[in-house]
Amino acid sequence: MTDNSDLLARSLRAVWHPCTQMKLHESLPLLPLSRGEGVWLYDFGGRRYLDAISSWWVNIFGHANARINAALTDQLGRLEHAILAGCTHEPVVTLAERLAKLAPGRLGHCFFASDGASATEIALKMSFHYWRNRGEPAKTQFVSLARSYHGETLGALSVTDVALFKDVYAPLLRGSVQVPSPDWRLRPAGSSPEQHAAACAEALEQHLSRHHANIAALIIEPLVQGACGMGMYAPLYLKRARELCTRHGVLLIADEIMTGFGRTGSLFACEQAGIAPDLLCLSKALTGGYLPLSVVMTSDAIYDAFYADEVTRGFLHSHSYTGNALACRAALATLDIFDQDDVIASNRRKSQRFSLLAQPLAGHPRVRDFRNQGMIWAFEVESDDPAFARKFHGEALERGLLLRPIGNTVYFMPPYVMEEGEWRLLVERTAQCLDRTG
Ligand SMILES: *Cc1c(COP(=O)(O)O)cnc(C)c1O
Repeated sequence: MTDNSDLLARSLRAVWHPCTQMKLHESLPLLPLSRGEGVWLYDFGGRRYLDAISSWWVNIFGHANARINAALTDQLGRLEHAILAGCTHEPVVTLAERLAKLAPGRLGHCFFASDGASATEIALKMSFHYWRNRGEPAKTQFVSLARSYHGETLGALSVTDVALFKDVYAPLLRGSVQVPSPDWRLRPAGSSPEQHAAACAEALEQHLSRHHANIAALIIEPLVQGACGMGMYAPLYLKRARELCTRHGVLLIADEIMTGFGRTGSLFACEQAGIAPDLLCLSKALTGGYLPLSVVMTSDAIYDAFYADEVTRGFLHSHSYTGNALACRAALATLDIFDQDDVIASNRRKSQRFSLLAQPLAGHPRVRDFRNQGMIWAFEVESDDPAFARKFHGEALERGLLLRPIGNTVYFMPPYVMEEGEWRLLVERTAQCLDRTG
């Protein structure tokens, strides 16, 4: 029988854990997991932890969800995986059709990959190649927002603006331009979130009007910039960005890898600005948090620019597990749950109720900028301790909460199946952690 300490020791010997200075685990123990159920993760001693970050923002309908499990069991008896070049199968076709119906605008062509970062790579390569096929090979540059996050592979990191992840690799990266972020935490004193968004849109306009001849695409996280600490902004910015991209002949890539599938309150964040991008990147909650799958959805105009007699005008990009049948089936089961349970409407009620119950945190003397967007809550904690995030994480674990602050930002991104009692517990114990961390 595996026990907690046995597994920890083996893991530290054999597994190189992601986004981690491994030496820190000399003092900070890993959390050993034996199973999950709903919003809870269990260790081998039967202790349970509330997964308040949806296992890195992917899980929306709970661990060991009966409906997703049943769909996967059925799919296992049919087809687990097959090459998608030259072949096709039911789950990938049905998923592409259903996504096309749900996505904003008319994004009828789905290019599948495995992780979020690979979707970003595809969107960047596709944008550049689109312009080249259209006879505009000078459009090679990418623009992103300050504080953006689009993944860790070299291309995705090139359009990411998080120093901690990026600076070491700077010599390997391709230059890209960052325009000011509409994140309302950054607004000048006396300015409203909308005024700040409008000012940032003006800065974008200046850049695009001057440099559009060399710009292939603007890539943007709609409404919430997750990895920089849940920076939220007014939909106005997206509206203006859409207009400006159209006016200046720049493709708009919406990276909804985190925001997609209801996280910000609508199925896709773009809906709240009434806009449709030219390319839409999805992953994370796409499979309910079960299996790695990502997709880039594109307009007809983009698809058509690749459709030709010459092979090299085609998009010659692939990953071994592209369109994996099991992952697609998990995604279909996830979409079924959205339909069957009217998830967007019930989340709307839940979001309001949860915000009300979180008021004690919002009013805590060390808390600033308490904010909410759909099923995301975040706030800044006043602290001079450079190890604040790590210590808070440890205090939370001691109280049966899985939380991972980003710098001084504490956030909740619960699975949508979280119940009121679990939320109350989360709020109450988070307040205790605040009182215990300096
Ligand atoms: C997580 C994330 C990515 C990267 O996805 P991975 O699956 O981790 O490679 C890209 N963009 C955004 C907005 C994300 O939140």
